[in-house]
Amino acid sequence: MKVKILGSGTLNPSMERGSPSYLVTVDGLNILVDIGPAVVKRLFEYGISANDIDVIVVTHFHVDHTVDLSTFFFVSNYGVTERTKPLLVVGGQGVHKFYRSLLRVYPWIKPKSYELSLKSMSGGGILQIGGFTMKTARVNHNRESIALRIEADKSITFSGDTGYSKNLVRLSSGTDLLVVDCSFPEKKVKGHLNLATLERVAREAQPKKVMLSHLYPEWDEFRGVLYSPYLLAEDGLEVEL
Ligand SMILES: [Zn+2]
Ligand SMILES: [Zn+2]
Repeated sequence: MKVKILGSGTLNPSMERGSPSYLVTVDGLNILVDIGPAVVKRLFEYGISANDIDVIVVTHFHVDHTVDLSTFFFVSNYGVTERTKPLLVVGGQGVHKFYRSLLRVYPWIKPKSYELSLKSMSGGGILQIGGFTMKTARVNHNRESIALRIEADKSITFSGDTGYSKNLVRLSSGTDLLVVDCSFPEKKVKGHLNLATLERVAREAQPKKVMLSHLYPEWDEFRGVLYSPYLLAEDGLEVEL
């Protein structure tokens, strides 16, 4: 299992950090976790075609996590190579309604040559795909917000956007890598973690490694030191588990 950080930032335009998005490769399949602004282009920059993606998980419907979903569907229909392999899109509560809303605005995104499945996993569900499982839990951000754990011989857990959450602690318990929203070093913002609230999650869940992501520009001013098991995410970083 490996993960590539496609974007470690936020909606704020930045030359260094794209909007939050991650590519997990496991059991020969590519899972895209969140798909905010310019993620399709970012995939292309890394030599990955939209047609290489098998599953897209949207942790919630905020713009910085979903806006390129329409681009993805559009390029699957009208890109250089028409998509033919099936696509699974997983989201929290309301994912079907969200898709229908997109379809009303952009009728051209309706799949032409491939099969699209939508699955709502609004917390507690487990999905078995090939040699791995995907499990979600509701977290504290939006009504539909979910965290995601992908498990094969190793496991990786994505917090999505969230403040402190008991569900996140349970879901990420003992995970090999927790990729977590730590939006700010110190600033307290409802629905996001900072170093203090992340510390509580990490103490209770005991993940083996913690990668801080969804980094707001406040992190550019950070002068502290992060100790193991903490790592700061960087765009393009690849971790093999
Ligand atoms: Zn959000
Ligand atoms: Zn966000």
